[in-house]
Amino acid sequence: MHRGIRLGRIFGINIRVDWSWLIIFLLITWNLSAAFNEYQPDWSWGAQWGLAILASGLFFASLLAHEMAHSLMARARGVPVRSITLFLFGGVSNIERDPDSPQSEFLITIVGPLTSFAIGIVLLLAGSVIAEPLRDTVSDPEAAFESLGPLTMLLLWLGSINMLLGAFNLIPGFPLDGGRLLRSTIWAATGNLRQATRWASWTGQGIAFLFIFLGISMAFGAKIPFFGTGLVGGLWLAFIGWFLNSAAVQSYQQIVVQDILEDVPVARMMRSNPPTVAAAISVSEMVHDHVMKRDDYAFPVMEGRQLVGLATLDDVRAVPREQWSDTLVRQIMTPFNELVTTTTDEDATDAWQKLVRRDVRQLPVVHGQELAGLLRRRDIVRWLQFHSELGSN
Ligand SMILES: [Zn+2]
Repeated sequence: MHRGIRLGRIFGINIRVDWSWLIIFLLITWNLSAAFNEYQPDWSWGAQWGLAILASGLFFASLLAHEMAHSLMARARGVPVRSITLFLFGGVSNIERDPDSPQSEFLITIVGPLTSFAIGIVLLLAGSVIAEPLRDTVSDPEAAFESLGPLTMLLLWLGSINMLLGAFNLIPGFPLDGGRLLRSTIWAATGNLRQATRWASWTGQGIAFLFIFLGISMAFGAKIPFFGTGLVGGLWLAFIGWFLNSAAVQSYQQIVVQDILEDVPVARMMRSNPPTVAAAISVSEMVHDHVMKRDDYAFPVMEGRQLVGLATLDDVRAVPREQWSDTLVRQIMTPFNELVTTTTDEDATDAWQKLVRRDVRQLPVVHGQELAGLLRRRDIVRWLQFHSELGSN
């Protein structure tokens, strides 16, 4: 799912940056330094670029504060959060599951935009307090803008960008914050989460198409209230529309997947007799007698009839070849107590969520510590293909 570069940990939450964010970082820095170059020609080259990089870095911190607010509120409402990933248009908090109640979802969501607005208001106030004395001495607004010092410029820019960030996220298209607020409201009214998600992603697609339509009209010279006109602005709006649409379609597909998998027990799509290996054999035995004879990726590790762990091809590859005969499978496996598992009667939707959210390829299906089968991603994908083909014919 979301990988990217790991930056560190705050409050026990992993912070990552997607590669796409670097593009935005460079774009913003380049844009800002060009703007400084135009409006503050007397600043040195170093000051223009230095301030541009500082401003982009602080913009990044603002995004992080927004996501942190979601994550900390989620945790306060009993929903675990594993990581935050910053990407092209903002951030994603990898919240482990949907909140239990519309109230929780509303609270977890609203704190993000509120944080952005709070930061925005504080920075704009600070900026205008510093800029205030200028207003009396200079009557021409353009000249006043040019006489702003670096600190004031930074405060005003960062303040407006945070206001914009709060407003953009309130667009009522799922999975943006606005769409989540809409979903929690419909959820509270109807008591049906699935239906609420469906409506919220339809709204998202509607708004996305509106943006694309307006953006293209702008590019062809139409003058749109608030958005203005022009090729560049139009293409940007259309691009945001395209992004919103793919996000909405993706969340809609998740609903379709859930509809197909719902009420189907894991037992119906798992593999009942997966190949296993004994904990006491060596890695070289495992490779020659098991790995080379099958196309499986993961092997449940057994001690008698008990499942004690799972060994994968990656675990094998991590051991240097010359140590294969001296290393036991037991030493390279993921032990039982660290495995994510499922049971035969668990709902396939829940098992699917575990696979996606824990980013694993398979779940051992267990009865206590006895192995009942193995559920792989591709087993579920095959089930989905088969049943959606049946549905469309
Ligand atoms: Zn948000």
